[in-house]
Amino acid sequence: MNRAVCLLSGGLDSAVCLAFARRDGYECYALSFDYGQRHRIELEAARLVAESLGAAKHLVLAVDLRAFGGSALTDEIAVPTSRSSEEMSAGIPVTYVPARNTIFLSLALAWAEVLEAANIFMGVNAIDYSGYPDCRPEFIEAFERMANLATKAGVEGSTAMRIQTPLIRMSKADIVRLGRELGVDFSLTRSCYDPDADGRACGQCDSCVLRRKGFDEAGVADPVGRCL
Ligand code: ZN
Repeated sequence: MNRAVCLLSGGLDSAVCLAFARRDGYECYALSFDYGQRHRIELEAARLVAESLGAAKHLVLAVDLRAFGGSALTDEIAVPTSRSSEEMSAGIPVTYVPARNTIFLSLALAWAEVLEAANIFMGVNAIDYSGYPDCRPEFIEAFERMANLATKAGVEGSTAMRIQTPLIRMSKADIVRLGRELGVDFSLTRSCYDPDADGRACGQCDSCVLRRKGFDEAGVADPVGRCL
């Protein structure tokens, strides 16, 4: 069976991406990061999602990005709330974590090489997103080129590494529809950047706003608490 490393945050997009990889017949090795994120509760969501979608293994790797800080997700900086889509599309918000996807993909690449997996799946999205530079197709394409230069498997030509981002050009509503079609249990997923002590979504951060927009436009009820 074809192996794939699937980056899994515990949010909506990465869950749908994992379900997509499973549907395509991959044996999936799910990878999450305990990076000092404010919304650490997503790791429990990731565990449940990996289990429910039949991942072969789920690994949570600790990489303390709070040591650098520099983001509202990893530092004492307030998470912006109630922003309009115009505000979201104007510039890079403080919830951007410096070089996060480069770091995550690099670690996924290392695991993929050990597993002899030729595919890495990542649920990045460049349509309904928060303006992060490392969610763009240009970045993914450049990383894929680099991956094939950087690895033993790439240089020896035994396997060409592919970074698969099936959601990259989809709207959030399309992602919700695809998730429903693939049988993703949305109630397990968590998207909020700034949940309360009980893990309930704030309903106002960019991630909550985008999630709500996606469910609303898809005409699907979001089973997760205050994201409704
Ligand atoms: Zn929120």
